[in-house]
Amino acid sequence: MDILILGNTKMGNNVFLFNLPAKDTCTPTSWCLEGRDGEPACYALRGRCKWPPSLKGAAQRLELSQKPGFVDKVVEAVNRRKVKYFRLHSSGDFYSNGYVEKWINIAKKCPDTLFRTTTRRRDLTKLIQELNSLPNFIVRESLDTSRTTPEMGLPFAALSSLKIVKNSDSYECQNDCPKCDYYCWENSDNMHFKEF
Ligand code: SF4
Repeated sequence: MDILILGNTKMGNNVFLFNLPAKDTCTPTSWCLEGRDGEPACYALRGRCKWPPSLKGAAQRLELSQKPGFVDKVVEAVNRRKVKYFRLHSSGDFYSNGYVEKWINIAKKCPDTLFRTTTRRRDLTKLIQELNSLPNFIVRESLDTSRTTPEMGLPFAALSSLKIVKNSDSYECQNDCPKCDYYCWENSDNMHFKEF
């Protein structure tokens, strides 16, 4: 198994991902679980993320992340594939302080790579803030209809329909990374996105 996944066509050839199983590692809100007419609204709980190969890969990556040598394996893969933009957790989330620490080490060892992720793990706020303070790592707090205001001292990533989006400055995701020139990796602004 390759530890990194090449991003989809909307992300271009410069983006690599590392995913973990949803629900096992994140703290889903009611929007995540049933915000789409009673069905999951979270991207990670529907569509391609539910395909058996995706689920198996995420489970294998979780196991790998718990073993010694994880940091060096990710750093080696980043260097080998010359990763410019790294999307951490398009499914899943930080599951412990120890795991956040591993990403702090990885980011420090890969200074030429820009990392970004989103999180709902308010219980891990302190260390996640430390991760976000690194020059090459942006962490945004995910907001949705059941969690509408930020609490983690991070920029936010919110649904367009939320009041906070109308009342704050935030960048609208274009859903086409090359076209928007990887804005959300290059800038630590708040961002918002339409529900699909
Ligand atoms: S804001 Fe731009 S770079 Fe970020 S995910 Fe959306 S399209 Fe991609």
